[in-house]
Amino acid sequence: MVLKTVDLLKNEIPFEEESVVLSEDVKTGLVLVDIINGFCTIGAGNLAPTEPNSQINEMINESARLAKVFCNKKWPVLAFLDSHHPGKLEHPYPPHCIIGTDESNLVPALKWLQKEPNVTIRRKDCFDGYLGSMEEDGSNVFVDWVKNNQIKTILVVGICTDICVLDFVCSTLSSRNRGFLTPLEEVIVYSGGCATFDFPVSIARDIKDAIAHPQELMHHVGLYMAKGRGAKIARDVSFCGLEKP
Ligand SMILES: [Zn+2]
Repeated sequence: MVLKTVDLLKNEIPFEEESVVLSEDVKTGLVLVDIINGFCTIGAGNLAPTEPNSQINEMINESARLAKVFCNKKWPVLAFLDSHHPGKLEHPYPPHCIIGTDESNLVPALKWLQKEPNVTIRRKDCFDGYLGSMEEDGSNVFVDWVKNNQIKTILVVGICTDICVLDFVCSTLSSRNRGFLTPLEEVIVYSGGCATFDFPVSIARDIKDAIAHPQELMHHVGLYMAKGRGAKIARDVSFCGLEKP
């Protein structure tokens, strides 16, 4: 049997995934990273998929499922929206998710979140939502959200697993370890609620300066790196007696 590259990689850098059950006993917040048209909706921009993508579809469906439960319970939700000023590039990526365009808005399946009282929307102009939460006066919208809601666990979903999700998780865990995020204890990354983009080497090799980004491999690497910082990786997420059918 010939193993695919992704299977070889999973053999070389395996990590444990867990079944996570959330209950009312532990105050949990949901963080949605960049589930916006510019990264998820076909043809929506320079970094949007060009054809249907099952990993991205699953990420949207699972995120919407979780968001629904959190909103029914009035549990805290924080949504990061990648939003850039025109003319200010984010190297090495082409212009994307410009403020004021629909690229930088939530996907149709999540648009309803804008009206929910338990949802905080944070537009950010950098990869890392933690840094993107910093205000000019030195305060931090994400840190305040954790503290004001007394959140002990955060559940993280979104796109891209190996870029904005990972950067946010790394900063959050470093900050928690330094004691800046009390009472936050645990960061859970839900694998089925995350996705990344696909740019296969067969296409990248013909384009000058392009960096290949095979989707399945990079998704796995992103989760592995998050695990290496101390995040828990969830293979599935359910709710103890809370989820409506
Ligand atoms: Zn960006």
